[in-house]
Amino acid sequence: MIKTRFAPSPTGYLHIGGVRTALYSWLFARRHGGQFVLRIEDTDRERSTEESVNAILEGMAWLGLDYDEGPFYQTHRFARYQEVIQQLLDSGHAYYCYATKEELDQLRAKQEARGEKPRYDRRYRDFTGTPPQGVDPVVRFKNPLDGEVVIDDLVKGRVVIRNEELDDLIIARSDGTPTYNLTVVVDDWDMGITHVIRGDDHLNNTPRQINILKALGAPLPKYAHIPMVLGPDGKRLSKRHGAVSVLQYKEQGYLPEALLNYLVRLGWSHGDQEIFTVDEMIEYFSLDAVNNAPSTFNEEKCLWVNQQHIQRSSGAHLARHLAPFMAERNCDLEQGPDLAEVAALLRERSRTLVEMADQAIYFYQDFDAYDEAAAKKHLRPVALEPLKLLRDRLAELGEWTAEAIHGVIQSVAQTLEVGMGKVGMPLRVALTGQGQSPSIDQVAALLGKDKSLARLDRAIE
Ligand code: GLU
Repeated sequence: MIKTRFAPSPTGYLHIGGVRTALYSWLFARRHGGQFVLRIEDTDRERSTEESVNAILEGMAWLGLDYDEGPFYQTHRFARYQEVIQQLLDSGHAYYCYATKEELDQLRAKQEARGEKPRYDRRYRDFTGTPPQGVDPVVRFKNPLDGEVVIDDLVKGRVVIRNEELDDLIIARSDGTPTYNLTVVVDDWDMGITHVIRGDDHLNNTPRQINILKALGAPLPKYAHIPMVLGPDGKRLSKRHGAVSVLQYKEQGYLPEALLNYLVRLGWSHGDQEIFTVDEMIEYFSLDAVNNAPSTFNEEKCLWVNQQHIQRSSGAHLARHLAPFMAERNCDLEQGPDLAEVAALLRERSRTLVEMADQAIYFYQDFDAYDEAAAKKHLRPVALEPLKLLRDRLAELGEWTAEAIHGVIQSVAQTLEVGMGKVGMPLRVALTGQGQSPSIDQVAALLGKDKSLARLDRAIE
């Protein structure tokens, strides 16, 4: 069975570039009826924070990227890593290195002076003497000296690395703690990961990891290295370019499926289709169609995708995601129309849930003041007559529906021999405080008779 994983280091926010990798892993597992594992790589104790772990868990939950196993924490698995390090020492695939920092600094200086690439010279690889006193050794992996490592990467194609280019990497620090390449290998092996899908910034670790897996007699997973996401300036996407944390997108009013849609298309395509439901992503996703070149993040496009999803969503679905934004704006949803109906009305005019929420406030709260320009143009003193007539006729209306309200607007316009706008606009400003809103008869219908009449009274006063 196919098993993939997402293995973030909890050292900051959950980066959308990382999420795209997580999404590809998740989609690949779901596409093939496999399993998806979440593993928190928190061995860097100084940089890992609980806050960051929470941001990862919250981000994954919000996006609906569910996992079949985990979250696993590497800090809980130290005993297992020690066991494997010992196994490698016992089988002669690893050795203690007693070189001091000063010694290594000297070595590096010499190599640099000769114009060589600095690298450890394997000085303790075959050491059998008495260990020097007072040095806590590191453990190094005995990388094969010749031959090559071949990676048939599912995105990059064939990558070949000669072993002589790889040095004997440290797998345990002098305090005994395991290093990244060791923990990843042990975890991928123990967790039965069949496909390692990750950012191509890890490609240079892969031959080292493969050599360790081979030394352990472990099966090799398949690898897919995904090119980076770049900012518009061609540099790796970072805070400098704007919002990069997933939870910022949540706060900015993105629908989770819209963000997934934008991210899936960032480096993957299915014909020229732009908008995908999550089910469609699962159905169509394949690593073959992942682009082997970096992609550039485009905020405008991301916003457009969000708008497309908002327009395609049901009122009820939008209401579920909109409700927290209404609460933030102190709107008591009991004090107004069904939020699903409001959302359906505002769907065409909102690029984000924040925009939608801002437009929805007047359904639940009386506004403090009219938009100045709109009031000046459409309300006082020009519109007193239509407003009064509207108020009287609406008060008599038995059936409070958009159609009936529309009929009243029309009849007032006819009576006063003016265009519909001369009646509709004053009504709009009176009811919403603004010069723009969805069709005003629909707004009035949702707002309800009592509130509509009260706001007309306020405008007439
Ligand atoms: N923990 C690593 C990172 O956050 C990922 C390791 C991996 O996917 O192998 O970059």
